[in-house]
Amino acid sequence: CGIVAGVGQNDVVPVLIQGLQRLEYRGYDSCGLAVHTGSLVPGAHTGLHRTRSTARVAQLQAQAQAEELRESIGIAHTRWATHGEPSVVNAHPHFSFGPGPHSADSPEQTARIALVHNGIIENYETLRQQLEAKGYVFASATDTEVVAHLIDSLYEGDLFQALREATTQLRGAYALAVIHRDEPHRLVGARAGSPLVLGIDAAGQRNFLASDAMALAGVTDQIIYLEEGDLVDLQTGKYWLSDSQGQPLEAAQRPVQAVK
Ligand code: GLU
Repeated sequence: CGIVAGVGQNDVVPVLIQGLQRLEYRGYDSCGLAVHTGSLVPGAHTGLHRTRSTARVAQLQAQAQAEELRESIGIAHTRWATHGEPSVVNAHPHFSFGPGPHSADSPEQTARIALVHNGIIENYETLRQQLEAKGYVFASATDTEVVAHLIDSLYEGDLFQALREATTQLRGAYALAVIHRDEPHRLVGARAGSPLVLGIDAAGQRNFLASDAMALAGVTDQIIYLEEGDLVDLQTGKYWLSDSQGQPLEAAQRPVQAVK
């Protein structure tokens, strides 16, 4: 029901939590966030980590504090379940570990993709069958999880490219924010049928995605409203927009709006 995600040079976790709190009014049944651990310590990058809850965002915040999550990149979500009951297992972010069985001992170490989604993937049953045939093991009952595995199945070292190819196979409504284990300074997103904005904090060299500009009030001084089919590629202090075909969008096509 709500997405907040960001990439910067310093800890973005408080911004993600605050953003989720500003979206709480919309209603939700569960919440969660995923980060790259060790993102602020040179040479310490260890992989993707997530924490999720069926309680309030305040509980997620307490978990993030207890786990001492301070990272420069992350994706966060409040869920309003459409497919799969409200539960921690069905809460976002969803992971892909790649095809084949994965170790239950340290799943965080091997997760390749973390993804949050607003909307409904109409053709998820077909995609799920195709991905299971390729060896992907599903952990949840959501429509969303197919997108994580689909992107993984298309990944050849460029997360933006894999997302773009994946969106050509998706039917339905989505706003997506995705991170990859092997690209610890990159956050990509897409929108079709569900809102998504790009928030720019030029001075802080931080860029964010959110389902509503209000989630970023006071954090970003510029907003770009993404349009149907738009894709976005965020790296520390930089962003690129493209249309659904992957054609770059000029600044004049998606004007930056100043926020007070
Ligand atoms: N359809 C997805 C799910 O049930 C996303 C729902 C949402 O937009 O929060 O998990």
